[in-house]
Amino acid sequence: MSTAASLETSTVRPGALQRLHAALMPDYNRKATLYWWSMVLIGALVLLHSALALRELSSAALLQTLAGTLVATLAGFFPVRMPRAKNSFVAGEIFIFLVLLMHGPAAATLAAAGEALVGSWRTSRRWTSRIASPAMAAVAMYGAGSLLHWGTDALQARGLLGDGVLLLAAMAFSIAYFVANTLLVTMVLYLKRNERPVLRELFGSFGWIAATYAGSASVAGLLTLTVAQSGPGVLMAIVPIVGLMLATLHFFFKQQAADEAVRRSRVEAAEREAQQAARHVRELRESEQRFHSAFTHASIGMALVTPDGTLRQVNRALRALLGLDEQEMLGRRLGEFVAAEDAPELLAQLARVATQQCESTALELRCRHRAGDDVWVALNASLLGDHAGENATLIVQLQDISARRVAEQRLQHIAFHDSLTGLPNRAHFHAHLARAVERHRADPTHRFAVMFLDFDRFKLINDSMGHGAGDEFLVQVARRIRIHVRPGDVVARLGGDEFAVLCENIERDAHAVHLAERLQQALRQPVLINGTEITSSASIGITSSNIGYRLPEEVLRDADIAMYQAKAAGKARHALFDAGLHQQVSDRVQLERELRRALDSGRLSVVYQPLHDLGNGRLTGFEALARWRHPVHGDIPPSTFIPIAEESALIGPLTDLVLDRACRQLRQWHARGPQYQHLRMQVNVSGNDLTHTGFAQRVTRAIVNARLQPDRLTLELTENVLMDRLDHEGGTLSQLGALRELGVGLSVDDFGTGYSSLSYLSSLPIDSLKIDASFVRGMQVGSKEAEVVRAIVSLGGSLGKRVIAEGIETESQLAQLREMGCESGQGFHLSRPMDPDQIELLLDRFEDSSTALPLAA
Ligand code: C2E
Ligand code: CA
Ligand code: CA
Repeated sequence: MSTAASLETSTVRPGALQRLHAALMPDYNRKATLYWWSMVLIGALVLLHSALALRELSSAALLQTLAGTLVATLAGFFPVRMPRAKNSFVAGEIFIFLVLLMHGPAAATLAAAGEALVGSWRTSRRWTSRIASPAMAAVAMYGAGSLLHWGTDALQARGLLGDGVLLLAAMAFSIAYFVANTLLVTMVLYLKRNERPVLRELFGSFGWIAATYAGSASVAGLLTLTVAQSGPGVLMAIVPIVGLMLATLHFFFKQQAADEAVRRSRVEAAEREAQQAARHVRELRESEQRFHSAFTHASIGMALVTPDGTLRQVNRALRALLGLDEQEMLGRRLGEFVAAEDAPELLAQLARVATQQCESTALELRCRHRAGDDVWVALNASLLGDHAGENATLIVQLQDISARRVAEQRLQHIAFHDSLTGLPNRAHFHAHLARAVERHRADPTHRFAVMFLDFDRFKLINDSMGHGAGDEFLVQVARRIRIHVRPGDVVARLGGDEFAVLCENIERDAHAVHLAERLQQALRQPVLINGTEITSSASIGITSSNIGYRLPEEVLRDADIAMYQAKAAGKARHALFDAGLHQQVSDRVQLERELRRALDSGRLSVVYQPLHDLGNGRLTGFEALARWRHPVHGDIPPSTFIPIAEESALIGPLTDLVLDRACRQLRQWHARGPQYQHLRMQVNVSGNDLTHTGFAQRVTRAIVNARLQPDRLTLELTENVLMDRLDHEGGTLSQLGALRELGVGLSVDDFGTGYSSLSYLSSLPIDSLKIDASFVRGMQVGSKEAEVVRAIVSLGGSLGKRVIAEGIETESQLAQLREMGCESGQGFHLSRPMDPDQIELLLDRFEDSSTALPLAA
């Protein structure tokens, strides 16, 4: 607790008196309090004195005094309030003055106190007023009354008190009384406010009452005179009349006041209404100004137009939007500034708004800028004001949405076009195709054909030259396709290296085939990418509305099937769809799915066909060959599943599987003993393997895992594939170099069927050539094939490459080959491809004879 607070509590300990003071007179300061108490005290003394003085009166006088007091007191309940005046006049004054004039100041003092008591009870709820008012009235009456009494006594003593003088004296007294009373009462207020009383203020407001006091006093004087002449009995008649008069006045004025109140409230209501109206007008004017300013300064274009679109007012933004000035616009129709095809709709909508068929309208349309270009706007029109119909004014807002429209169009373009080639994409093509299908169904003379193009070597380009080159290739061939189709045809890129062409109004399938041929011709021309000429070709599948399609996806599916057919038939071809194709290709798709599963679960196996030294018959190694036994279809030949694996991405895993198994297998056989260490393994790899950048690493891994010497492994690659790759791709050469570094051998498979360039053969890290079985099969003395075989054998000799003959089925073939000096061979005549178990048996069997074969069976 602070020191100040504790001081306060110790010094201010309110007693009962202070508590009472705080409750009754919280607004009284010291002076006012002192004044109040003195007035109450003096008043009490005056009353006491007056009461005691009454004892000197006769009983009749006492009775009159009490009656006068009673009447004055009662009159206090009926103040006569003058209309529009602040103060009221109390009729009781007449009787008080009467008492004064008849029975002296003491009697009048009691009457005055009584009247004041009633008056203050009526007008104030504060005890301080209720107590002080009678006290002050008593003091004022006693003082003023004594003065009058003294004055009249003195005048009487000199014989000067005539009736007129008495009346004047009474009036003077009443003024004195009024002044005294008023002073005493208002003094409290001044003291409370700590101000000095201002007389002008005092009498300015009470002047009217002073007059009524004087009037009352003169009436009282007249009554006194009457009583003096006719005796007190006359009072019995006059007092009720006066009372009645006053009561009448009281009620009359009350009625007046009520009327006045009604009138005033009417006036006030009217005034309020007028004010409201004024405010409304002001608000309207403001809102008009606001509207005007909003209209003028709005950032979006605005115009006021008639129902037929005639421009009445245009704002700055609209002028800017159209690049016109006001004179060029006002009086002209809005439709004139709108694209011709949008104008009728605009006019129709304005009419609907004008006739209140709708509250507002919103349109998106093109306006024409003075500079000539189109501006897309969002237009909004609504009625301005209450007039509808012909006299309507419409407010039109036009917002420039060109940016949004352009963005939308861009999005639309992105959504429906291939970003690389700019051609329509699959979704877009689908939509076109759907329309063509519908059109054909509605009118069968509306024929169409669809071509499905797939590039034969795109993956190779992508993998070996990088995606940048692949993209460039696609861009160039896309351009070429577009140039070579007919103007109305739709060319789309469906994804990857797949393109589609929709040709409408095709009379016969032959026309589509002709077009496909033309395309193929164009696409066979080399494409120049990064300074390298790349030759490619496309396989094209064709189908047409003759099949009777119901859905666009069926069309694409069949064109796709035909394309596969073209590929299977040897690529760079086209094929026309027929229903028989469908089954074939869907089988193939199914097979691919099953091959994938077989690979995943290791259900592919590897068999090994022995290779022999044709000179001494010794076993030199094996060729690993993949086998797939299908749970339903049985053995599926490699000639079926290897192309499928090559078309899909399955060839990599397949090669890895065979490589891995073969290497481990050979390592096992090596482990049988030193006499098996020379055995080698030949593994077939696909062209796609070589384009895989990680291929050399994969081979290394297989060798390392099997702990095999690298030179015991030879990879076989067909001549066609090898030459094809070498022609176009740098990557293949580096792969071959890496394999050579590793010490792995390389054999050219199916040699003689391709067109090997001799320069390649001598420079490449190749150690053997495998003569294709077709030549071996056709060997008879003097045949063309026999000559080819002889040539290859001698070529191998001069290049320093080993020559292997495959497909040796007969003794005679074997004999011929030996005679020609062919070093190695394989074939059913020597040994069929066998399971590892069978090979084990074979190895067991020939262990003793140094694994040599009986060359002559
Ligand atoms: P290829 O590389 O020329 O394999 C030799 C094919 O000739 C094998 O057929 C083999 O069984 C068969 N063959 C061996 N001796 C004779 C014979 O005396 N007469 C006849 N008519 N055929 C004989 P296969 O196993 O059906 O393989 C066919 C082709 O599939 C292979 O031809 C090879 O190009 C491919 N291939 C097989 N396995 C794989 C593999 O693991 N990877 C890859 N990339 N291709 C493989
Ligand atoms: Ca082979
Ligand atoms: Ca072969």
